[in-house]
Amino acid sequence: MFCKNCGKEVNENAVICPNCGVPTDNYNRSASAPEQKNTLALVGFILSFFVSIAGLIVSIIAYKNAKKPEFNGDGKNFALAGIIISAVSLGIGLISGIITSIFWVSFIMSFPIYY
Ligand SMILES: [Zn+2]
Repeated sequence: MFCKNCGKEVNENAVICPNCGVPTDNYNRSASAPEQKNTLALVGFILSFFVSIAGLIVSIIAYKNAKKPEFNGDGKNFALAGIIISAVSLGIGLISGIITSIFWVSFIMSFPIYY
């Protein structure tokens, strides 16, 4: 990459330009790197595919955690994806549950009652 200040080519991993000493894009990236990995976000994301309720709860906690300074937004996108995926599959589960119960109720009601 090239230095934004002097235009000299600098190492891809360089934090500051060796020519003029101005911080590169890597400097901002390393400065804003999260202190802690938001592992919970990944757990919630994976859970949302298998156990919607658990995935939703874990993802919401992870999303709240991501806003804390020690996580510095780490895992926010994963947590958000986990919330959406688990909410959608919960919604589908709810709708199919309602449809199934309507089906069974009307099926049972269709039986003639003999006294
Ligand atoms: Zn420079």
